[in-house]
Amino acid sequence: MMPRRQSVGSTVGGKVRVGGGAPIVVQSMTNTDTADVEGTAQQVRALARAGSELVRITVNSDEAAAAVPLIRDRLAQLGTAVPLVGDFHFNGHKLLRAHPACAEALAKYRINPGNVGRGSKRDPQFVEMIEIACQYRKPVRIGVNWGSLDPELLTRMMDENNASPQPRSANAVMRSAVVESCLQNARRAEEIGQPHDGIVLSAKVSGVQDLIAIYTDLAARCDYPLHVGLTEAGMGSKGIVASTAGIGVLLQAGIGDTIRVSLTPEPGGDRTQEVIVAQEILQTMGLRSFTPMVIACPGCGRTTSTYFQELAQSIQGHIRHRMPEWRRLYVGVEDMNVAVMGCVVNGPGESKHANIGISLPGTGERPVAPVYEDGAKTVTLKGERIAQEFQELVERYVARSYPPRGAQPTGETP
Ligand code: SF4
Repeated sequence: MMPRRQSVGSTVGGKVRVGGGAPIVVQSMTNTDTADVEGTAQQVRALARAGSELVRITVNSDEAAAAVPLIRDRLAQLGTAVPLVGDFHFNGHKLLRAHPACAEALAKYRINPGNVGRGSKRDPQFVEMIEIACQYRKPVRIGVNWGSLDPELLTRMMDENNASPQPRSANAVMRSAVVESCLQNARRAEEIGQPHDGIVLSAKVSGVQDLIAIYTDLAARCDYPLHVGLTEAGMGSKGIVASTAGIGVLLQAGIGDTIRVSLTPEPGGDRTQEVIVAQEILQTMGLRSFTPMVIACPGCGRTTSTYFQELAQSIQGHIRHRMPEWRRLYVGVEDMNVAVMGCVVNGPGESKHANIGISLPGTGERPVAPVYEDGAKTVTLKGERIAQEFQELVERYVARSYPPRGAQPTGETP
């Protein structure tokens, strides 16, 4: 893995550091109507409890802007201290000017330079937003998105390309225009008075190769912290795989200070999935630890019953359920590895590598399940209660192996 790119770093909400050598930050966005104070506060709380360290909310109307300080206050009542980022498009300058309590309550403003205004209105409206950020000492994210790329900039760059003796492809010009939009608007924000360390950049596209090319270029040309994510990644496994491919390649190259996984939830699905996927990307790459990892074999013809899948699922669920308490009580428990293996082929070996592991009986094997702790076989489980007994062993392992954190509470925001 390449060393992390050095960025200037930016502090959000007085407590979350983005870039400047800080751990890579996980963030997410609500999909509630921001004017619905209780609904939005509850979803922000759920995202924060899942591990989101910043939560973005859309601010698209007077009602939404008026709700922002109420959401901040409701979250304080609920004991959730996660910084809120306001997402502005088209009317952000008006909303921030008309709602000073909103401008003050937000920890950061996301400004899409393609949606600030057209023609002669564009610069004054951008200036107004940056002046308010300066007034309230808020960092901003210059968040370019190719779906709303500044059309004047793109047209100018396309015209220049067409007039050049060796024109590049339209896609290459689009990639350059996304990067230029980021850099030009960041420069303009600094001219207006925004501090250099009060700017984060993002350049989101929906294609993995475009994402990698654009961020590689952007990373080489500035030292602003970079927010990395694939926009409109999609639903289900496609969204997860595309986000992981794009974000993973960039992280491997040392690029990225904060990430968001933009998944489309299934109807009625859980919004917190995007937080879990972002954490899993960072943890499986060895960049951060959030929760104990369950290593489970895929199963094969040697595991003809669903018993082993059910056990792996129940252990994973148990760990997620217990983690807030464990995190409060024990230091380093998030680094634990738990193995749940389906048969004798790789089961004992993989279980020995884990902190604690179980090797279940495959088809035709003796109905016993040896358990390994720190590389040594400690007990053999059998009978109907293997799942419960293994969970109890995991509980005892955690209590015995990780030092108590002491009496100080960590709060619910990780
Ligand atoms: S450990 Fe056993 S059950 Fe699991 S995939 Fe390997 S051979 Fe199949």
